[in-house]
Amino acid sequence: MQNPEDDYQAMVLVEPKRPLELTRLPSTQPGAHEVLIRVRACGVCRTDLHIVDGELTQPKLPLVPGHEIIGEIAALGEGAERFTLGERVGVSWLASTDGVCKYCRAGQENLCEAALFTGYTVDGGYANHTVADERYCFPVPDAYTDVEAAPLMCAGLIGYRSLVKAGDAERLGIYGFGAAAHIIAQVAVSQGREVYAFTRPGDTDGQQFARELGAVWAGDSTTPPPVELDAAIIFAPVGALVPTALRAVLKGGTVVCGGIHMSDIPSFPYELLWGERILCSVANVTRRDAEEFLALAPRVPVRTQVEPFPLSEANEALARLRGGRIRGAAVLVT
Ligand SMILES: [Zn+2]
Ligand SMILES: [Zn+2]
Repeated sequence: MQNPEDDYQAMVLVEPKRPLELTRLPSTQPGAHEVLIRVRACGVCRTDLHIVDGELTQPKLPLVPGHEIIGEIAALGEGAERFTLGERVGVSWLASTDGVCKYCRAGQENLCEAALFTGYTVDGGYANHTVADERYCFPVPDAYTDVEAAPLMCAGLIGYRSLVKAGDAERLGIYGFGAAAHIIAQVAVSQGREVYAFTRPGDTDGQQFARELGAVWAGDSTTPPPVELDAAIIFAPVGALVPTALRAVLKGGTVVCGGIHMSDIPSFPYELLWGERILCSVANVTRRDAEEFLALAPRVPVRTQVEPFPLSEANEALARLRGGRIRGAAVLVT
């Protein structure tokens, strides 16, 4: 085994609203049921931006962000036996749960009262190495390279959970065509659904991208769709899109808010919700979501479009994401 101290470097958030700092960290040994992972790639998620920008207010500090980790097992902690040295694994947002609270017992571990989150309340993957609880690591489908697989670990999982919440909607609206949307649009199209993609006004490149991935229509979020939608998923962190999406779905339709953070939702007439429309959010993911989606993705097959950046350019990747200047998903390569 290579000595982890050789290259234990990370991009660290010292304080919100400040650029990440390239930092040399002391090597870490995996604890009981933990594995040390040599990180190969780590996706840059919009949630990372919300953490760095101080919109999610409870990060561990200093923090190594990143929760779309693909790497290989470099060391096993005591009792860790799910994986072997050198095996490729993925790590997602859910880092651990208590397993005993009422949510865990009801199969809703995504809502666990004592959950820890990768790259938020525990250190994540903007690093050469990271430590994870082996029970929250997943084998990665062979069909993907490390860089291609990284966005599956959150954008894919959250997208999948959002799609399931949208029910069997035939005409599906997607607001915000970033990493999650570009993955889940492919799944929706493969299931025979019609995808209607909404982007920031004037983002013709994003609209073209959506059409390339099978959307039957793509346009500005300020434009109503040409037909009534059965359901809509909002990935953009823009509260004003909630009444917009409710207006676009027909009676009995569902609007799913897929993000962890959103600007305030403006008040709207009850009439938009009436007609048994359903408005719900998606919070975190379960391990079952991951197992289901990672089995499904290669069968679709989902193809991820990625823009790779060296680890040291994490700030640039975040800035590009903030400006809506990433096609598909940004991924840090270590
Ligand atoms: Zn729990
Ligand atoms: Zn994420």
